[in-house]
Amino acid sequence: MIKNFAELDLDPNLLSAIEEMGFKRPTQVQAQAIPQALDGRDILASAPTGTGKTAAFVLPALQYLQDFPRRKPGPARVLILTPTRELAMQVADQARALAKNTKLNIFTITGGVQYQEHADILATTQDIVVATPGRLMEYIKAERFDCRAIEWLVLDEADRMLDMGFGPTVDHLSQECRWRKQTLLFSATLEGKGVEGFTADLLKDPADIDAEPSRSERKKITQWYHRADNAEHKLALLKKIITEQAERSIVFLKTRERLADLRTELEKAQIPCAWIQGEMPQDRRNNAIARFRDGTVNVLLATDVAARGIDLPDVSHVINYDMPRSADVYLHRIGRTARAGKKGNAISIVEAHDQQMMDRVARYVKEDIKERFIKEMRPTHKKPVFKKKKKDDKKKSATKAKKKPSKKK
Ligand code: ADP
Ligand code: MG
Repeated sequence: MIKNFAELDLDPNLLSAIEEMGFKRPTQVQAQAIPQALDGRDILASAPTGTGKTAAFVLPALQYLQDFPRRKPGPARVLILTPTRELAMQVADQARALAKNTKLNIFTITGGVQYQEHADILATTQDIVVATPGRLMEYIKAERFDCRAIEWLVLDEADRMLDMGFGPTVDHLSQECRWRKQTLLFSATLEGKGVEGFTADLLKDPADIDAEPSRSERKKITQWYHRADNAEHKLALLKKIITEQAERSIVFLKTRERLADLRTELEKAQIPCAWIQGEMPQDRRNNAIARFRDGTVNVLLATDVAARGIDLPDVSHVINYDMPRSADVYLHRIGRTARAGKKGNAISIVEAHDQQMMDRVARYVKEDIKERFIKEMRPTHKKPVFKKKKKDDKKKSATKAKKKPSKKK
């Protein structure tokens, strides 16, 4: 098992960039994916959020581009697809940081950018292009982007891309890149919504990497919940937590209406916060994230749509002000804390009607998520108990339901 970056076949210029970024040793997914990718294999990798998947494909790509240098100027040789523009920018930033001692050019092509800016990019030599599928497809259709030079196709957050309905566009792009040598697919999970069928068409005999994070990498997230009697109680609990317990928190909400309401409440209470939601102008979103990133504010309100795939460093608390719609989304949310070996906290504030989801989440993450109390803010209602139906009961009620209509006849 590879323990040091030096054991990987990487050029000294990459090793020194890695050192400057403060990476001490490769994460599991990096140790497994980098050698295979450099061997010319396709990659199918899944590893939890925050375990360094970006460098796991960026580093071998940068090495490859140096091992096989281009002979003349021209279009991109490595195409990285990401589900959102924020993620594209983050991946490009990390790629630029790792490529700082090389002459390689890295660009992004995403929505929310003027066409002219892209025209300038497309006229220069690009080595790596990080793109969102929709905008790139537009350029291909308009014959402004040519995939014939693409040698590596990388899909980042493939599960999210499928969730967001990019499946057909990605298939189409894969067709456009049919002269490529290698395909690398990275995902937080490979379960659900047809990731399997999807990967079968894209990858040729891929190296299967399912990187269980090592003990030290595994997230140390302390999870608990508070029960709230009603909306006011919930708000009071949140204010207490974000002002007295948490250093930096992301607060998740179900909808933008709910987000707007909470924003008003926090403003009234003079608690500074930034917020992101879906369909928000790019510059405002960037601005909000920047204010949170640089510590101008320590609270970020977010909806799930807006938060997809964004890497926000040093979050001490993830707070579920609204419970997510599924246990899987819960995992994605809490993945925002305890990044890269740090400790983190995940708090859910639940009302009686959320209890069932809370129980489901606990079963899903296979952890006993305990209830905690805040002095003088204890709930007064009794905790609802949901008995799991026994299999027999289910069968009985199913047959009952079937029989009923026949009785009427
Ligand atoms: P993922 O894509 O798996 O969610 P990222 O690639 O966004 O994770 O990495 C998460 C964080 O970990 C980033 O801030 C990144 O700079 C950092 N990181 C990546 N690789 C390492 C490493 N080998 N050692 C320490 N930190 C790392
Ligand atoms: Mg990632």
